Amino acid sequence: MNPRNFFRIMCVTVVGFLSSCTMSPDDLFDPFVDAPLIKTDGSSQNLVAEISRLGMRQAGEILRIEVFSDDVRGVYLLKQDALQESAGVIVGGGPVNETFTYVVRENSELFLFVDALVGSKAKVSIEAGISSDVPPRPTQRISIVLETDFLVNGLIDDSATGEAGDMATADFLSSIQPIVQADLLSRIQQVFDGTGVTIFGPEDTPEEPFSTLTISGRRALAAEDELDSLEVVGCSDVVIFGEVLSDSSRVDAGNQNLSDDAIVYVGSFRGTGNCNAGLIINSTNNIINALALSGAHEIGHLLGLNHTALDGIMSTSPSFAIQRQLQFQRSQIVLDVGRGNEIFTTVIQDPQLYFDAILAPNAE
Ligand SMILES: [Zn+2]
Repeated sequence: MNPRNFFRIMCVTVVGFLSSCTMSPDDLFDPFVDAPLIKTDGSSQNLVAEISRLGMRQAGEILRIEVFSDDVRGVYLLKQDALQESAGVIVGGGPVNETFTYVVRENSELFLFVDALVGSKAKVSIEAGISSDVPPRPTQRISIVLETDFLVNGLIDDSATGEAGDMATADFLSSIQPIVQADLLSRIQQVFDGTGVTIFGPEDTPEEPFSTLTISGRRALAAEDELDSLEVVGCSDVVIFGEVLSDSSRVDAGNQNLSDDAIVYVGSFRGTGNCNAGLIINSTNNIINALALSGAHEIGHLLGLNHTALDGIMSTSPSFAIQRQLQFQRSQIVLDVGRGNEIFTTVIQDPQLYFDAILAPNAE
């Protein structure tokens, strides 16, 4: 597949930008060579494409970046990917409509990528920052919060209470909750081992700032406007298995927020009325796998990871969660561009490389 097919010009609907838009997406256009170069002199410039060039940058250089837009969701810094031609790998990022700083880790050409809906408009200004702009070494702590009786509350269908079979199931779920809690925690800790992210259990009191992942008994239905981007074939109810709560942002690009929150809805795994009937409650192992990997997935979003095209923890398909031990996988990313999910063949997410980049000590 030609990666250039996925390069979109954002400005087609914007009269003022039309002169930049004479190029057809079918032209042989490599954004990593031909995309517009953004000046880093603090001037406000229109973003005319998803990927822009920032030119050669030097290790230790500090960039103050601000992207203004009503409909861009996140901003990412890319460098040329070492393995795939005409592709960039994510090395940082930040939010929209507020200034963030980026410390260049090595001498390399950098690119700006915006996660935007088709037809979005955005302006950018970038200037040199100073070391006092840069927060100290980012340490990401995650506290796992377990709601009381999350298994019984989640996996017993209220509408069917009173039946003898349900009571037996409730007793069984109560009896395995301690094992599930302990295994859930150690499984999530295992996933993040060596990444620089520290996972704390319900008994620990982490130093501030820290993010939280709540394991809730609730069942959550997808909102009407989310249905397009979810797999809904054959489901009478479309549930969501977890989400990021803070700032209504799905992904904390560049992990700029060290105290954001996410949740996993145990009730959504119950399997009544949705397309994953009986998915998890048929074995203790399935329950632990599904909750641990869904938890790791949501923590991934808190750290700035997007959905991926390949199977792995950041895959969008919840049914993978119980099938095997998943990893954070190097992959092209998947974004909802406003007409369903699309694979971005030019943007690579390499979790280990990304964690090293965002959690490395900042320059003195
Ligand atoms: Zn997700």
